[in-house]
Amino acid sequence: MKNTPTTPYLLTPGPLTTTPETRAAMDRDWGSRDHDFIALTQRVRDKLLDIAGKPPGYSAVPLQGSGTFAVEAMIGTFVPKDGKLLVLINGAYGRRMVAIAKQIGRTVEKLECLETEPMDVDALDRLLASDKAITHVAAVHLETTTGILNPLTEIAATTRKHGRALLVDSMSAFGALPVDTSSLDFEALAASSNKCIEGVPGLGFVIAKDTSLQNAAGNAHSLSLDLAAQWAGFNKNGQWRFTPPTHVLAAFDKALDGLRAEGGPTARLKRYQNNHDVLVGGMRAMGFETLLSDNLRSPVIVTFKEPTDPKYNFNEFYDAVHRRGFALYPGKVTEAESFRIGCIGALGEAEMLGALDAIKDAMAELGINITKQGQG
Ligand SMILES: *Cc1c(COP(=O)(O)O)cnc(C)c1O
Repeated sequence: MKNTPTTPYLLTPGPLTTTPETRAAMDRDWGSRDHDFIALTQRVRDKLLDIAGKPPGYSAVPLQGSGTFAVEAMIGTFVPKDGKLLVLINGAYGRRMVAIAKQIGRTVEKLECLETEPMDVDALDRLLASDKAITHVAAVHLETTTGILNPLTEIAATTRKHGRALLVDSMSAFGALPVDTSSLDFEALAASSNKCIEGVPGLGFVIAKDTSLQNAAGNAHSLSLDLAAQWAGFNKNGQWRFTPPTHVLAAFDKALDGLRAEGGPTARLKRYQNNHDVLVGGMRAMGFETLLSDNLRSPVIVTFKEPTDPKYNFNEFYDAVHRRGFALYPGKVTEAESFRIGCIGALGEAEMLGALDAIKDAMAELGINITKQGQG
């Protein structure tokens, strides 16, 4: 596939660039009660568990909607009405979980640190020791706001030590960064079709303990976002409770095959790491600076500080790069003026080099001096 101004490569954290094979998988219709669609649903659920290391006693529960729907369903289904959720925050997606818990009437506490710092496991340890009312801890695996990777293994171990349940938003990590239930104890983990698995948007999923799904029956705040009922529905007849996103699921099945063919999450992570390295090396050579230091950055999305040249304006810069066939992503950090470039999607080194050329040309066209940056 060649990128054009109308179909640019998406250097974003999703929706992202998919393969022609994944898109072609959508080119037929399915009846939601047909045997082949029921088999497709089961196949996708099995492949999702494979990525998590085939954990015994866990199920994958797909859910219509974007990733936030899955996170909201996870919080509403697993945190009991008389429970207390502690959310670890170092970016917008942690804050979103607090907003969800408040909106659906769950008691919520937060433990916040700077967006440029990984979550503080010692502070978590102290808080869990002092507040016995906390029943659940929610953590963002990879905070897409900055691209920072949080210490999920340590968070899981500390949460387990205190006998609390862990809910994970692994949206921008699952499929590339390791998530293995043999070394990670979580009650539930949410992700979506259109990030590291490289499917099209429209589907979220939660991998959860069967015993927790059983115990959560009747707990959810919502009829449609009830994972326990969704799971029970699949167990009963293999069908979705409400109209499934049939084409999205078929594309997702194909994307999961693509992940396996590539060599699984380890190989995918390697490609993303190379995309990241090529990108950061090229951007630094132009004078750009990354927001996060090298030891904190994940290879999924990179935040760059905006040039200080007064001629720089993100919208003009975005449009100039877009005319050259690449879509960038605005910044979301509250502490600095920034923009982001994603390293995920069906893209490799050639596309990252193309993006660097497009950025260089765009800067020249707009007359922006970037060599000044990085010296301050
Ligand atoms: C993308 C993302 C979400 C979900 O966002 P949607 O727009 O609802 O798909 C949640 N958490 C994180 C960390 C994400 O990167």
